[in-house]
Amino acid sequence: MSWLPGYSVLITGGGSGIGRAVADRFVTEGASVAIFGNDAAQLAEAAAGSPDPSRVLTVEGDVRSSADLHRAVAATVTRFGRLDTLVANAGIWDFQRQLTRLDAAALEATFDELFSVNVKGYLLAAEAAWRELVKTRGSIIMTLSNASFHVNGGGPVYTASKHAALGLMRELAYELAPKVRVNGVACGGMNTDLRGPASLDMGERSIGASFAKKRPDAPPPVIPLHDSSTDPRDFTGSYVLLASREQSGPITGQAISVDGGIGVRGF
Ligand code: NAD
Repeated sequence: MSWLPGYSVLITGGGSGIGRAVADRFVTEGASVAIFGNDAAQLAEAAAGSPDPSRVLTVEGDVRSSADLHRAVAATVTRFGRLDTLVANAGIWDFQRQLTRLDAAALEATFDELFSVNVKGYLLAAEAAWRELVKTRGSIIMTLSNASFHVNGGGPVYTASKHAALGLMRELAYELAPKVRVNGVACGGMNTDLRGPASLDMGERSIGASFAKKRPDAPPPVIPLHDSSTDPRDFTGSYVLLASREQSGPITGQAISVDGGIGVRGF
């Protein structure tokens, strides 16, 4: 049984990491997907590697551009006839850069760049998509983070952006009810290509490098499921659940934490 038969889905940042894993999983569940991102070569590679490339559309653009996102929604509806699910996902990280290691100019530039992708990018995507989602009684799923609830998943800029995204998810769940559900998946650490802000010279730095550098004798992370997977493919189940009208019809305004149990850590 597939959970998303005939669904049409738009995923920002769908060419890499958790976005790509969700795109592949959704195709396996019967959906057609439009993957949106700012790297044309990466999008082409993701589409070619999909379980069914005939059900993948690529759209190049920047989540900081409302015009690009409106173009993506229009292209999705033209190709697949409707829009059932928006996955707002494209993001960047601050590599846990602490306040005391940022001068004022760097802080200003980093804040503007990171919030513009991680927060404005989600809000603009929702604005571009809600009219089509109302037609299908569809839903929005936002990729949140352990940093939406806990400290030290980022520095102050990233943590604030993911707390902001949590608030955005809850506010839009209220505003778009009863026709459109809005939920989040708060992921823990995943081995992806997550990059940093160009304003901190971190545009080419990837979180994947820290996973690669990890010594085999390094202590396990201090979380209850300390041996849980960091492969983004193992984080996709909650997206399927939340996208499915049959399985999640009464669920809105909720974030599912998929983080190895950080929140139940004891002393
Ligand atoms: P990733 O870099 O593999 O994927 C992010 C995608 O977004 C890439 O395809 C990138 O090209 C695209 N992108 C970035 N900026 C863009 C822009 N301005 N316009 C259009 N596309 C843009 O990283 P990922 O880890 O899969 O990140 C996806 C989401 O997961 C982010 O919101 C991130 O905050 C969140 N997250 C990641 C982790 C982790 O440990 N990797 C943990 C929790 C949450």
